[in-house]
Amino acid sequence: MRIDRIRVVRTPLHMVNPLRTSDGSHESRVATLVEIRDSEGVIGWGENVAPAGVSYVGESSDESVAAMCDLFVPLLAGREIDVFEMMPETWWGVSGHHFAKHALESSVWDIHAQRESKSLREVIGGTRTAIVPGVVVGIADSVAETVAEVQQRIAEGYGRVKVKISPGRDVEVLRAIRAACGDVLLLQADANAAYSKEDIALLCSFDEFNLQFIEQPFAAGDLGSHAELARRSHTAVCLDESICTVDELLGAIEMKACSVVNIKPSRVGGIGAAVQMHHIVKSHGVDAWVGGMLESGIGRASCLALASLPGFTMTPDLSASSRYFASDITVPFEMVNGEIQVPEGPGIGVQPLPEVLSAPETRIQTVFER
Ligand code: MG
Repeated sequence: MRIDRIRVVRTPLHMVNPLRTSDGSHESRVATLVEIRDSEGVIGWGENVAPAGVSYVGESSDESVAAMCDLFVPLLAGREIDVFEMMPETWWGVSGHHFAKHALESSVWDIHAQRESKSLREVIGGTRTAIVPGVVVGIADSVAETVAEVQQRIAEGYGRVKVKISPGRDVEVLRAIRAACGDVLLLQADANAAYSKEDIALLCSFDEFNLQFIEQPFAAGDLGSHAELARRSHTAVCLDESICTVDELLGAIEMKACSVVNIKPSRVGGIGAAVQMHHIVKSHGVDAWVGGMLESGIGRASCLALASLPGFTMTPDLSASSRYFASDITVPFEMVNGEIQVPEGPGIGVQPLPEVLSAPETRIQTVFER
């Protein structure tokens, strides 16, 4: 396909409640969307979910949008593109900037699938038509508030809860959740790299809470501590921030630094890279699941397509739109009987609502037009 127009669309997304993690509070965000039109007039949508102000895996929103517009749009502008070639470590000529690469590449996937008259799920080989989602509970002011929110999410129908933990806000909160919700709840803990090697004994003591896994306790580059924890603890270790490239995934598996991997398409630089990592974890018998980054309906749709692949053996962090947003920018994703449907329409199956695109607070910038 040939790319004839690229626009960046920014529109505010209002959070229902701020999500607090060990790296800060996420109160509102501006959704940054990419709209690409090919020479046949087919329009694809992608989303750049690099967080504002927080340099998660080294890429903040402003840096990422600048990389997209200045470095990468010229590579697509007016060119014949084959989406299968757009791998993050080889096609773009520059390493890093995975959120930016993903935003553009996922828009091209949307066009590619539409031109095949298939859903994104079908073109990547997804087998599930619905996803049983899990939900993330942030760090609240008190343990009682966290427990109350976990109970609220269970009442809403979520069967798996991941709770954010940090040093000093861990044992007490996990114990209180188990006491209030019992042992049947599928419970996970995400530390967002907040612990260090000296905490390994403490983290081993979390075995008593029967967690499905503990996610990213140590710094992204510290695979050694993850491997040591995996050896000493009965609780599975999941990696998130450590895994940005295929080489990093293969290295972590080789070192036995994890038995579970959270794969976020924006962190790994595209849908193609996420599918490749899916095949790797599946062939190594490593459990995996698709993580979310507060995507609007645009990013959520492609994450759901990805989560339909059979090797994603664990519950994804892909909740209903209403978990995070007062109103979504697409038709909202809803949970019905504990499931969210994977979009079945051509491409990603959703697009921004017309009233969002015409709203006075929405900014549309044409970066390239043929
Ligand atoms: Mg995480």
